[in-house]
Parts: sequence; C-alpha cells; structure tokens
Amino acid sequence: MATVNAIAAPSAIEPLVRTTIERRAVGPRDVLIEIRYAGICHSDIHTVRGEWGRVPYPLTVGHEIVGQVTEVGAEVTRHSVGDRVGVGCMVNSCRVCDNCKAGQEQYCLNGNVGTYGGSDRDGTITQGGYSTHIVVDEDFVLRVPEAIPYETAAPLLCAGITTYSPLAHWKAGPGRNVAVVGMGGLGHMAVKIAAAMGAEVTVLSQTLSKKDDGLAFGAKHYYATSDPATFKTLSNSFDLIINTVSAPIDMASYLRLLRLDGTLVAVGAPPEPLPVQVFALFGARRSFAGSSIGGIAETQEMLDFCAEHGISAQVEVINAADVNEAYDRVLKSDVRYRFVIDINTLH
Ligand code: NAP
Ligand code: ZN
Ligand code: ZN
Repeated sequence: MATVNAIAAPSAIEPLVRTTIERRAVGPRDVLIEIRYAGICHSDIHTVRGEWGRVPYPLTVGHEIVGQVTEVGAEVTRHSVGDRVGVGCMVNSCRVCDNCKAGQEQYCLNGNVGTYGGSDRDGTITQGGYSTHIVVDEDFVLRVPEAIPYETAAPLLCAGITTYSPLAHWKAGPGRNVAVVGMGGLGHMAVKIAAAMGAEVTVLSQTLSKKDDGLAFGAKHYYATSDPATFKTLSNSFDLIINTVSAPIDMASYLRLLRLDGTLVAVGAPPEPLPVQVFALFGARRSFAGSSIGGIAETQEMLDFCAEHGISAQVEVINAADVNEAYDRVLKSDVRYRFVIDINTLH
C-alpha cells in the first residue's frame, strides 16, 4: 500500500479538498502509473454532487488519466516502465460474460468496475485520477501514442471514446450528415472525430459564440438552438445526432431533425428522464438510442485513430488548487473545451 496526494469531494455540497488516499500494492498483473494530467469530465461533477445517486464519500474522481508507467508486476506483458499510458472510465470487468468476451467491457453483464466509486477487487472503493499515482490491472491500461501530447490526450480517455464509439457504431463517414448537440468536452471531440471520419458535421449549440471554433474543429455548419428557426431549417436533415448535453432538452424537437431511419444517440447523462414523444419517432422511422463510453480495444483504436488524424482535445490546463473554480465554469458552459489538471501541482 502507498499513501498518495489527491483531491477529494468530502460531500455533495462541500468544495473539493486536497487530501491523501491509499493505493494498493502493485500485484503481479498490475501497473503503477505516475499520473501527469487528469481531465475534468462533467460526469465527475454529476457524481460528486450526488446527482446520479449515492456516493461513497470522501471520493476522488477523475477518469481521463494519462501518465508514465513507473512499476510493473511480475506477470505484466503489455506495458513496461517508462511507457506513456492512459486509463479511462473502467479499471476492471468480469472478463467472462458475453459482452466482455466481445470486447464490450463497458457493458459487462456483471458490472464493470468504475475508475472511481466502484468496488475494487480488494474490496476497497476505487479512487480516480485527481491524484499523483494509480495502480491498475494491465488489461485496462491503454497505450498513448507518442504523437499526442499528454495534456491533450487525457480527455480522449473519456470524451474521446464516448463520442468515437457511437460515431463508429452508427457509421459516421462520407455521405452521412451528423449533428452534434452541445459543444463542450464531449461535443468538441465529437466534431473533430466525425469530421476526421469524413462525415458532414453540424454543431447545434445554445448560441453562436463558439462558431469559429466549431468550424475550425471540422464542422461545416453551426446553428444556435436558441433560435427557433434552426429547428425549421434543419427538419429531416441528419442521419445521426449525438446529444452531449448534460441537462434535459426537448427530445421531440431534436428527433424531428433526423431524416428517414436516422438515429439520435444520447451520451449526455442528465439525472432527469428525457420524455420521448412516439410521434416524433413514427414520422420517419427514427431511433432513439444511448451509448456508454467504449470497450478497451475500441479505446486503443480511438487513440490510434486520433494520432493518425492529428487530432486531440483542446484543453485549458489548470493547477490542482483551481479545480473548484473549473467546476463552476463547466456548469456555466464556460469551458474551452476541457479542463485538465496538471498533476505536477499536486506533488
Ligand atoms: P460539458 O463540457 O459541460 O458539455 C456539455 C455541453 O452541453 C455544454 O458545453 C453546452 O454546450 C451544453 N449545455 C449545457 N447545459 C445546457 C442546457 N441547459 N441546455 C442546452 N445545452 C446545454 O460536459 P461533458 O463533459 O462534455 O459531458 C456531457 C454529458 O455527457 C454529461 O452529462 C456527462 O455526464 C455525460 N457523459 C456521458 C458519458 C457516456 O458514457 N454516455 C461519458 C462521459 C460523459 P453549448 O455551450 O455548445 O450549448
Ligand atoms: Zn467522463
Ligand atoms: Zn463481463
């Protein structure tokens, strides 16, 4: 066991504080990672504020983790000391259920082990990436390509894979019209990845204030959802809509933007239900779907895809002391486009 520096939420209503947490001893199949950067995902905020249910406080969150391997267990074959690696939203799964065997560990039928707030194999509660070190089973550790700097790679481990997976599954590519709703952490990665896949990308943001950035990320079109004319102009336009919004929005208005057989995929995870009017689905044999992160092999594929296409996140690097302020800014949609904690400032 090792005691390491971390940032933790003491409760749903208090600011995050500096503290220490315990990491398990490096087992035969474990990798010890010295964390360099950790991204701030909106899921961290939903979680620590108790919006998604009970939380085992105090909790250290963070599931966009990159750093360097500093120790490996005796049986580790996939990683070596000095490797640049990443860890995303899961640190284990059952490995024997149909979904795990199909490489879809995120849908493990026995429940994957979340990087934070999960029940670890030694019975303790998993603690996330806002910390200086983490010990993870080698099978849940990804290789970060040399071409991607650590700080802009970190958000790929959640925002990148969460958007890559549905874009790949629903075949974003040449000849396909893809809309991205909300251009925050997930949204800006969805724009970059869908454009790199060859799709024609439209951003649907609350205002036009980030239009220049959206076009620079690869979007062809950019509309404000605060303008009712947007919903008339774009009716029956898209093959695929990726909804990244962290709050409830009127599903029927967005479903009507799908053309025949189009699919709207929810990746944004507001705690409230999103009511669906079936008539909005009937109108063009539309589908309403959901998608959760991505499997381990697919996450590696996404990292390699981003390296090959020269894309990664646009980030604002912050010090450990500025996490609470960053949370407030995320909640105001004032993030360009992912906050990443420089973990050096936690040593
Ligand atoms: P984020 O950076 O805060 O981005 C969310 C964006 O949604 C904002 O930038 C804003 O975009 C838009 N938005 C926010 N409030 C809105 C409102 N009231 N009405 C309309 N639009 C609004 O958050 P994120 O880190 O990208 O995460 C987005 C959501 O995905 C969160 O709910 C998170 O928990 C969830 N998530 C899900 C998965 C999964 O596996 N499914 C994985 C990671 C995250 P504009 O300023 O452009 O309007
Ligand atoms: Zn996340
Ligand atoms: Zn499983």
